[in-house]
Amino acid sequence: MQIDETVKCFKSYLERYHAIRMAESLFHWDMQTGNPPEGGQESRAKLVSILGAESFQMTISDEMKGFLDALEPHLNTLSDETKAMHRIFSKKYNEAKNVPAEEARKYFELQAVAYEVWRKAKHNNDFASFAPYLKELVETNKRLIKYRGSDAKPYDMMLDEYEPGMTMEKLDVYFDKMRKTIVPLLKKVVASEKKIDNSFTFRTISIDKQKKIAALVMKKVGFDLNRGLIAETEHPFCLTISQNDVRISTHYYENNFLSSMFSVAHESGHGIYEQNISSEFADTVLSDGVSFGLHESQSRFFENIICRSYEFWQNSYDEFMEILGDDFKDVTPEMFYEAANVVNPSLIRIEADELTYSLHIMVRYEIEKLIFGGEVDVNDLPSIWNKKMEEYLGVTPKNDSEGVLQDVHWSSGLFGYFPSYSLGNAYAAQLLSYMQKDMDVFGNIKNGNVDAIREWLSEKLHKFGSLYEPSTILKAINGEELNADYYVEYLENKFSKVYNLK
Ligand code: ZN
Repeated sequence: MQIDETVKCFKSYLERYHAIRMAESLFHWDMQTGNPPEGGQESRAKLVSILGAESFQMTISDEMKGFLDALEPHLNTLSDETKAMHRIFSKKYNEAKNVPAEEARKYFELQAVAYEVWRKAKHNNDFASFAPYLKELVETNKRLIKYRGSDAKPYDMMLDEYEPGMTMEKLDVYFDKMRKTIVPLLKKVVASEKKIDNSFTFRTISIDKQKKIAALVMKKVGFDLNRGLIAETEHPFCLTISQNDVRISTHYYENNFLSSMFSVAHESGHGIYEQNISSEFADTVLSDGVSFGLHESQSRFFENIICRSYEFWQNSYDEFMEILGDDFKDVTPEMFYEAANVVNPSLIRIEADELTYSLHIMVRYEIEKLIFGGEVDVNDLPSIWNKKMEEYLGVTPKNDSEGVLQDVHWSSGLFGYFPSYSLGNAYAAQLLSYMQKDMDVFGNIKNGNVDAIREWLSEKLHKFGSLYEPSTILKAINGEELNADYYVEYLENKFSKVYNLK
């Protein structure tokens, strides 16, 4: 077959793969946002598992191997688009091709059981019941990685799944910087005399009004509702069917309107990334953000850098007041800004403020490294967790439910995932610094010109979809890869001002 013909067949094979994946996504959306009260679950579960098995098979089929082998010798002459597809699917193929079907099936079962055990263990504050499953999940993951026949360190390979190119060597430098700078900065903030009163943010606001706030935030940041929609779910998330069909969700709490407001800003950031991928990649496997870390950088950019800035509140104050009404007459833009940036070292990651968030991730990163380095007994994790929380955040869990058991990730075998959350913050600060060379970012926010910011991000990052790896995209903007200095500087500047530190 001529190479052009092979490329054409490869692309149409991947189009089929993509269509199945999007059907799975639609089921997922549907299950999260509402189903008939009775029945349907079993049928849906069956349909989803058939679709899942089908898309998985397509990644390890002989046909796939045929395409990958045929294209390999021609990579230098192929388009970036074909190269990217080859890169992504070679990786998927190599990850799974040597795993015996029986091993894969057992792992699937283990994940399902471990999730249930974890859920009960968290509820009953009973780490001991979860420990053997956690051990089994770790052992199985180590085995699964061996099938890849690579010399790379197991934990490096797990990191690479979520953030292509990321390694412990790079992350050690990154977290070392956090430990040396953010831990002492947090101590200064906690010791500062300034106390921020954010009690007004817990006043009751009707869900109706909060929906208006959500609409205002989406409009301000530029999430396109002609090509997207918003729903209510227990946990906020973003899901894409195509760049013209991007869905986000939020959860409204009557006594905490900032919670939903910032979750809408966050998910809008994810959604804006997806909506602005070049239409060249429409309905292909490249029509998706390239990595977990870069995706999170966009949600954090819109949530933290834009919507938690003083300039945002200056610009939006009147519009917020129009919705909130007379009950908020006593609240100034400064008060909104400060309340949005209260630092409160706490036990729970998902409730963490902007300053302490990455310290929660550092605790998990260090523990995952110990686990995969074989340097720790799973039974010792609760006490290790508690010690690290005390050391970095100055708080100690009273029990394991608010400590080592709090996150769902490990129960599903997701090791190496957590660092991408923190990388998102770091990339966001890095992008901000580059952007400031081209425009007055906060001036634009103050003037309500978020379009300029969004267009910059689209041009430098969004439009590429999964065409290039994260480090390639960053390097193309300013000649460097991940650099923690920008993030540290951003946090130091921002929180020194908020807390009047010398
Ligand atoms: Zn996110």
